[in-house]
Amino acid sequence: MNAAASPPTYAIEARGLDKTYRAQGKAPATHALKAVDLAIPRGSFFGLLGPNGAGKSTFINILGGLVVKSGGRASIWGHDIDADPMNARGAIGIVPQEINIDPFFTPAEGLELQAGYYGVPKAERRTEEILRAVGLWDKRDAYARTLSGGMKRRLLVAKAMVHSPPVLVLDEPTAGVDVELRKQLWDYVRSLHAQGVTIVLTTHYLEEAQELCDTIAIINHGQVIACEPTPQLIGRLDRKTLVVTPQAPIAPPIAGFKDLTFAMRPTGAFTLTYKTSEHSVEQLLDRVRAAGVAIKDLSIEEPDLEDVFVELTA
Ligand code: ADP
Repeated sequence: MNAAASPPTYAIEARGLDKTYRAQGKAPATHALKAVDLAIPRGSFFGLLGPNGAGKSTFINILGGLVVKSGGRASIWGHDIDADPMNARGAIGIVPQEINIDPFFTPAEGLELQAGYYGVPKAERRTEEILRAVGLWDKRDAYARTLSGGMKRRLLVAKAMVHSPPVLVLDEPTAGVDVELRKQLWDYVRSLHAQGVTIVLTTHYLEEAQELCDTIAIINHGQVIACEPTPQLIGRLDRKTLVVTPQAPIAPPIAGFKDLTFAMRPTGAFTLTYKTSEHSVEQLLDRVRAAGVAIKDLSIEEPDLEDVFVELTA
């Protein structure tokens, strides 16, 4: 781990970060990041979500030195990417979206090369430990071209960790990875997080982000439109849905629910969607009974990240 004198409050901090890709041929200029302010707390498991083209990869690639920003500032682990690029680069490991593994190296060779690239002394290399952690130790001597897609992706994670960076960024790491391997990947990333590594994840799998990330930022059209602890973000949707299965089939509409959203389910259950700030379950149940409905079963559904996401980016 990077031995900074006192660890920074933010693992990554961007202020007014701006990027315009120049016009090329017939393609017009693209304002991909618009004065983005984003502070990613040290130790967080941070989700960066946004629709395609929102600017997520641009943000990550500026941090990784692959894209040159047009304006603003960014620092990684307290190191400004302009003033102190060596330390900034050394503090971050990035797992790219594209698989870019040399097909003629074995996983063990690839990790050794990467460690050499970062100047990690031989005695401090953790090739075996890392390959075991990502489940590739038994493939250590196989050519990378013989690895499956999921194995290659795990090898990318392994490569990003050779210099023990305190910040690990995963750009859409589970696209095309099957469920079992995804679980294995997350187990490893979770164990890194438990050891204190700050994790930044971009993903389209909202469920995954909801399950893994303690803080989530939503980016759209190059702007951060939300950045909050996950429960708070989900709590932004002040609504729940009461699902009632009646003892006997009912014929909708039932009277007395004009102030709520009423819907039927194919199962014969009906739903009442209500604002938690305006209605209590107890009061709703009284009203259901008052409408002459005998209740067989009921449950309450809460909004998930998908709902928030759709609402915010609509
Ligand atoms: P995301 O990762 O959220 O899908 P990107 O950062 O890849 O978004 O893209 C943001 C915007 O910048 C998009 O409109 C995209 O077309 C544009 N863009 C990305 N990379 C380049 C590039 N190298 N040249 C020109 N435009 C680009």
